[in-house]
Amino acid sequence: MVGNFFESAWEKILNNIKENVGETIFKVWFANLIPKTYNQGVLKIEVPSRFVKDWLDKKFSQLILKAIKDYLPEVKNIELVVSTKPVWQVSEKRNYFKQISKKIIDKPLTIFEVNPTTNLNPRYRFDNFVVGPSNELAFAACQAVAKGTGRTHNPLFLYGPVGVGKTHLLQAVGNEILRTNKHLKIRYGTTEEFTNEFINALKNHSLEEFRFRFRDVDILILDDVHFLSGKTSSQEELFHTFNYLYNLSKQIIFSSDRPPQAIPDIEERLKSRFEGGLVIDIQPPDFETRLAILKLKSQEKNVVLDDKIYELIAKKITTNIRELEGALSAVIFYYSKSEKLTLEKVEEILKKFSKEYYRKITPKKIIKILVDYYEIEEQDIFKKTRTKHLVEIRQNLVFFLRELGHLSYTSIGQLLKKDHTTIIYAYEKVVEKIKIDPEFSQEIELLKSKILES
Ligand code: ADP
Ligand code: MG
Repeated sequence: MVGNFFESAWEKILNNIKENVGETIFKVWFANLIPKTYNQGVLKIEVPSRFVKDWLDKKFSQLILKAIKDYLPEVKNIELVVSTKPVWQVSEKRNYFKQISKKIIDKPLTIFEVNPTTNLNPRYRFDNFVVGPSNELAFAACQAVAKGTGRTHNPLFLYGPVGVGKTHLLQAVGNEILRTNKHLKIRYGTTEEFTNEFINALKNHSLEEFRFRFRDVDILILDDVHFLSGKTSSQEELFHTFNYLYNLSKQIIFSSDRPPQAIPDIEERLKSRFEGGLVIDIQPPDFETRLAILKLKSQEKNVVLDDKIYELIAKKITTNIRELEGALSAVIFYYSKSEKLTLEKVEEILKKFSKEYYRKITPKKIIKILVDYYEIEEQDIFKKTRTKHLVEIRQNLVFFLRELGHLSYTSIGQLLKKDHTTIIYAYEKVVEKIKIDPEFSQEIELLKSKILES
């Protein structure tokens, strides 16, 4: 369909949709709609794949029609048709990536630095969070809190299994408030940090300073409160922190891996505080949401894959979004190093991401592989020697113990006899280096596959 009038109307329609659904959803589902033909009140719109068609038909057909009618009232109905040619061509050899410039993949990604005052990481935002049935309530509650319209949501308590986006949402609230209400004081922390800092404060007689840090705030965000289980004195401290803030009508947000009543070894009075506001769960994402997340994440990496690949990844990795991201990175990484990517190859890469696979990875195994690779003695890892080389190896070790061994900072600290801030620093250092140094990132990928295949 041609014509200036039509083109400008179409642009307005798309903008209107964008305003309604938000930037992220728009990019994922609506960016490639192309109006094709108009006949007797019916506008045919081309969409890039069957999958997009089904999703739009199911969720957004009324919204699209309404947006169109506002500008083109003669349209009575729409029909979505699947494009006969793919957005980008799949080559004969079934090499799914050929069209993407590899240079793009090597481009360093934006580095996000944690804000030292709030402890928030700016990478977690509402606009890069994909909303689906599994998390829409939690998302809405978080937005309400960020807008200041969630007065009754105090405290807000989100719970759900690992990797479903709890930390992302919690930090997004903080970042949104930081953006819109600069004068408010926000503090984000994990419960592990809260507990460790509390114990250090007890040791160093610096309780007042500790309390100032957690109480002189307008919004306190505490992640993973299930960590308090069995830690009586930290529980008590949090109970008083809570009361202090609550009585001043300050907003408090918690997350946990289970609902308040199900957290073992925790005082009843604290549980009842957790339950006093709004308690909402986040479930693992459904297939469509997983797919949308994959598309968004690869867009962030400047890569577009064939829908079949996204579908395969989303089919195989079902519960943990961190693993979903990891799998996507592994696939993209493989592609950037090789000529051809088949579905079979993707399947092989994905095998490494299954749960069974992770379970076999012990700290011992990780240490052994690093020791062999860097040709050092195992005892060098635990010595106090601080040569640059050894320090870097230890940092990599921390990274793998966390990523593949799934150990907490505290247990890594115990294992390596270092305090947990050093461990967090080491981990974050490696994460940042991976983003900016392609050679280092290759080394890490190589080690990762050695560990996974061991
Ligand atoms: P949790 O705290 O529940 O264990 P995280 O918030 O750390 O999970 O999420 C794991 C990873 O998945 C993060 O990188 C996060 O950005 C990403 N993620 C989770 N949910 C979503 C979502 N709905 N949209 C986009 N990214 C998500
Ligand atoms: Mg988390």
